[in-house]
Amino acid sequence: MRKENILYVVIPCYNEEAVLKETTKRLREKFDELLKKKVISKKSKVLYVNDGSKDKTWELIEEINKKDNTFTGISLSRNRGHQNALVAGLLTAKEYADVVVSMDADLQDDINAIDEMLEKYLNGADIVYGVRNKRDKDTFFKRVTAEGFYKFMKLMGVDIVFNHADYRLTSKRVLDEFSGFKEVNLFLRGIFPLIGFKEDIVYYERAERFAGVSKYPLKKMLNFAWDGITSFSVKPLRFICGLGFIILFISILIMVYSLIQKVFGNTVDGWTFLTISIWFIGGLQMISIGIIGEYIGKIYNETKERPRYIIEKDLLK
Ligand code: UDP
Ligand code: MG
Repeated sequence: MRKENILYVVIPCYNEEAVLKETTKRLREKFDELLKKKVISKKSKVLYVNDGSKDKTWELIEEINKKDNTFTGISLSRNRGHQNALVAGLLTAKEYADVVVSMDADLQDDINAIDEMLEKYLNGADIVYGVRNKRDKDTFFKRVTAEGFYKFMKLMGVDIVFNHADYRLTSKRVLDEFSGFKEVNLFLRGIFPLIGFKEDIVYYERAERFAGVSKYPLKKMLNFAWDGITSFSVKPLRFICGLGFIILFISILIMVYSLIQKVFGNTVDGWTFLTISIWFIGGLQMISIGIIGEYIGKIYNETKERPRYIIEKDLLK
C-alpha cells in the first residue's frame, strides 16, 4: 500500500459567508471520496484563511470547525488581500501537510480537479497548476482583460502559466523553498514557476461564482497586474533607456535635416540650433534616466533577497 499523504486545502476567504457552507459541504464529499480511495490520510484538513472579513465569515468558520474538525481556520488581524492571505495559509499548512492545494472560496475552481492533481503529485510532480480551458462563464470584459494580462506579462518577461490563477497543488518541499522568498510585493503566480521542480498541469472548466460577488473589482485587478509586472520585471526601466537611444538616433536625423534646410536657406535664424538641441538633450536625458533606472532595478532585485538557486537532488545526502 502506498503512503497516505496529508492533504491541506487552503482557502482564503474575504466576506464569503454566502458560499462557505456550500464549499464546506462539497469539500466534505470530496474528502470522503478521497479517504475511501485511500489517496489522502485521515489527518487531512481544509484550512480557511479569514482575510479580515467584515461579515460573519470567521464566526461561520468557527462554527463549522466545532461540528467537523476536518475544517479548521486561521484569521488575519485585518484585510491584507488575496495573495497575502494565501501565503499565510500556505505557510501555516506546510507545517502539518505533505501536500497543499490552494483554491478560491467561491467554487469557481472545479474541486474535482483535485483528484487529478493528486494523481500527478503521486506520479512525481511537485507543482501541479490548475489551468482553465475555457472562459465562457466569465464576462467578455473579464475574459479579454484577463487573457490580455497573461500575454502582456509574458511580453514583459515574467514567466507565468497561461490562464492559471491560484488553483494549484504544491508539495511540502516546494513550500519549504517558497518560504525563502522574502519579498513583500507578492505575485504568487510568478514565484512558483521560479521555484522549479517537476511541474504538471491539470485542465478544468471555470464555473460561475456560486454566490456572493467578486472581491476583485477592476481597480484591484489593475493593481494586481501592475504589481505583477513591477515585482518581476525591470523591463519597464530598460524601456526608458531604449527610448533614449531611439530619440538620440532621431536627433541625428533631425540634425542632418535641419542643416540641409539651413544650407538651402529655408529657415529662420536660430531654428536649426533649437531643433537640434531639443532632440539631442531629450535623448540624452532619457538615456541618463534609463541608466539610473538600471541601477535602481539592480537594487530592487537585491533587496528582494531571493534564493539564488534551489537544489533538487543531492547525492551527498
Ligand atoms: N479574497 C481574499 N482577500 C481579498 C480579496 C479576495 O482573501 O482581499 C479571496 C476571496 O474570498 C476568494 C478569492 O480571494 O476566495 C478570490 O476572489 P474572487 O473570487 O472574488 O476573485 P475573482 O474570482 O472574481 O477573480
Ligand atoms: Mg472567484
